[in-house]
Amino acid sequence: MAKMDKKKPEHAPITGFPVRDGELTIGGIKISQLANRVGSTPFYAYDRALISDRVAQMRKYLPANLKLHYAMKANPMPAVVQHMSRLVDGLDLASAGEMAIALDTGMDPALISFAGPGKTVEELSQAIAAGVVINMESFLEMENIARLSQEQGVKAKVAIRVNPDFELKSSGMKMGGGAQQFGVDSEKLPDMLKRLAELGLDFIGFHIFSGSQNLKEDSLLETQEKTLALAVELSKYAPNAPKKVNIGGGFGIPYFPGDTPLDLKILGEGLSRLMTKFHQDLPDTEVVIELGRFMVGESGIYVSKIVDKKTSRGENYLITDGGMHHHLAASGNFGQLIRKNYPVAIGNRMTGGTKEQANIVGCLCTPLDRLGDRMMLPDGEVGDYVVLFQSGAYGLSASPTAFLGHPAPKEVLV
Ligand SMILES: *Cc1c(COP(=O)(O)O)cnc(C)c1O
Repeated sequence: MAKMDKKKPEHAPITGFPVRDGELTIGGIKISQLANRVGSTPFYAYDRALISDRVAQMRKYLPANLKLHYAMKANPMPAVVQHMSRLVDGLDLASAGEMAIALDTGMDPALISFAGPGKTVEELSQAIAAGVVINMESFLEMENIARLSQEQGVKAKVAIRVNPDFELKSSGMKMGGGAQQFGVDSEKLPDMLKRLAELGLDFIGFHIFSGSQNLKEDSLLETQEKTLALAVELSKYAPNAPKKVNIGGGFGIPYFPGDTPLDLKILGEGLSRLMTKFHQDLPDTEVVIELGRFMVGESGIYVSKIVDKKTSRGENYLITDGGMHHHLAASGNFGQLIRKNYPVAIGNRMTGGTKEQANIVGCLCTPLDRLGDRMMLPDGEVGDYVVLFQSGAYGLSASPTAFLGHPAPKEVLV
């Protein structure tokens, strides 16, 4: 169980959800009206205009020749993926289930890539038939792909996911460097590329993803520099120049007091410099970044309703019909070492009123089910809407919805 963070009850500032008549709005709709429209609480709501704005900001500040891919695991809601498919240059996914959603958008399969350890033979077969790029995570996977390609009479498009010999520093979650279940260790790449050439697969390039939730421009750029240098080095062993190098992403968003948003201008200038240098060695290789959280995280809210209130030995509790079964990350149990509060508001009491300190909990019969510890909030009543911000990524699909048998929440894109 994550420890309780006893620091001040405040949070990173939230913009993007204007207040009207004392109520939070999303997509121009008041929270109470949206709740009526959805028909029941709890629910997730995502704002399509905020998603579009975020991608537009990236287009503005990042190099024009940098390709932007959406990593679907952050939010695989079909309507979100559909919306995103019109804004980005490709989709990255990690299961046959996600692949089905991606293909339904009509995105060109050559712009879809499939990564992830432990792909089954069935998944590989589907991916080959669909014509998506497979980011291979092992030698055995490569042999399976070659055999399936032959059986189907289709030349599979493949990239190699590389486990680099460096890490993404200051990252919330590391997924590269050292020993990993992801990718193939960089020192094994010469052998793998030799075998790939023998097997006659269509070599698309490299995929090097190092980590997630990083708010330091310096460490992101340092990793990107090493990643591009590694790709240049490895391409010397490849049967053809890579068509694409996917340098991962890892851009974070601010959740907690003291977190500052990334400066896209700094990242853009740095990346532009690095890409110019990279293109001296590999002029025809496209550089791709793949982002999930940064593209959708700040556009979503999770809304639950207060169903009970109590005071227990000096602590106030607001008990909602939501909880960690819908939003594991906000409860602090999705890989966090210390539990910290996500930004929270009472969505129908955005102006005026006295504030008091309260704990917001869910309806599950476990002490892990906490959505806000000791937060200063307007005096909430039964029927009020509790809104958790920064909930557009790693929300519903990253939560144990079956735990305790309550209904699953709805999702809406407005
Ligand atoms: C999870 C994941 C991403 C997305 O990471 P974010 O931090 O959400 O941007 C991208 N690529 C791969 C390979 C991943 O596993």
